[in-house]
Formats: sequence, C-alpha cells, structure tokens
Amino acid sequence: MNSQPLHLLLFGPPGAGKSTQTEFLETEWKVAPISTGALLRAQVAAHSELGKQVSALLARGELASDEIIIPLLRARLAELSPDEGFLLDGFPRTIPQAEALDKILTELNRPLDAVISLELGTTEAVNRLGGRRICHGNGPDEIIHINDEAAVARCIERGGLLVQRPDDLPNVIVRRLAVYQTQTEPLLNFYRPRGIVRTIDASGSPQEVARRVTAAIQEIHPLTKTW
Ligand code: AMP
Repeated sequence: MNSQPLHLLLFGPPGAGKSTQTEFLETEWKVAPISTGALLRAQVAAHSELGKQVSALLARGELASDEIIIPLLRARLAELSPDEGFLLDGFPRTIPQAEALDKILTELNRPLDAVISLELGTTEAVNRLGGRRICHGNGPDEIIHINDEAAVARCIERGGLLVQRPDDLPNVIVRRLAVYQTQTEPLLNFYRPRGIVRTIDASGSPQEVARRVTAAIQEIHPLTKTW
C-alpha cells in the first residue's frame, strides 16, 4: 500500500457523473473532495464579507475573480492533514488559475498525480440531464432518471414531487455543454505534456465508470491499492 496521498483533478461536462464518481473516489481513496463552487456557496450561506461580494455573481453564473478564489482554495488546501489527498472539482477553470494552482502545490509540496477527464457524447449528456429529476419532499432529495420506473414509483409512493432543475432544460443543457468544451479543452492541453491526463469513457453504469477511473489512477500511481 502506497501511503502517499493522492492529488487529483476531476473534469467532466455536466451529466458525466462527476458527483457520483466523487462519492466513489472519496470512499475508496483517502481524498478530500474540494469544490470551489461549494466553498463559495458556504461563504454566501455564512453571510461573510466575501460571501456578500460573490453572491450576485454566483446568481448570474459568472466566474469569481482570481483575487477571491485563489486565496480561498489555498487556505482549504493548507488545512489538509499530511496523509490526506484531494480531489479538486471546479478548479482550475482558466489557464491563469492552473498556473496559480501549480504555485500553491509546489509551496505545499503536493504534486498533482492525475487529471481525470470524464468524457460523454452530447446526445447521452442531453439524455441524462434532460431526464434528470429530483424527488423532493418527505425525506432527503434523491436524484433519479425519468425512465427509471421503479425510482419514479418509489418517489410517488413516499409523497415526493418530481422536480426538474431549470438548468436541465434542453436549450440550457446545450449551452452548458458548449461552455464546458470551450473552457476545458485548453486546460487539458495545459496538463497533457506532463503525461498525467486520463480520459475516461463516462458512459455506462456508475460502477463501470468507477472501475475505469480506478484503473486509470492505478496506472499512474501503481502502488496504491484500492478495491
Ligand atoms: P460549480 O459548483 O463548480 O458549478 O460553481 C458554481 C459557481 O461558483 C460558478 O458558476 C462560479 O460562479 C463560481 N466558481 C466555482 N469555481 C470557480 C473558479 N474556479 N473560478 C471562478 N469562479 C468559480
């Protein structure tokens, strides 16, 4: 067993199953999931000075400035215990952020091990997101697919409501996918020369995708034993 903590970036278009894979990775590997979007939302919820500065731009879906996001990320990474790795989601989003991340990781002596890029065709992404519903009410929210008859029946039985996120409407999905493609490709090219980018076919069941992700990480970090 390799005791070195793993340092991972996770990329993937909306619908590729990033949150599901994060749950697998977090459980099976000792990596702290860090989402810069979640860090910002926590500041807004806490009504901090920073939260007040970013709440309007978060609502508009605009990027927070590097002056805000980079120190926030640096502070979160510095909190990790020495044996704890990380799985970064939502950062970097631009080349200057990728350069800033390099500097922080050098300072903290935590070299990146792998950049995992989940890949999914547009048709399948639109189908997954377009059919995604949240079963809301009488218990914890549950994400289900409209074609999953058993899950729909369970939701109705518990008196839940099937809710569609406004950004899961088809025209918005196509725009979100396009934005992802234009902003992420240059980032993958930034990391490619280091030989640490692994593109993973994100079609199939979550378990199948998790197996592919695990195999890819083990190829890069061969001594780390998981499931
Ligand atoms: P996410 O949860 O990753 O979709 O992020 C939600 C929102 O947080 C984004 O729409 C941005 O407003 C902001 N955000 C998250 N990560 C970053 C980042 N790396 N740079 C700038 N803004 C970010």
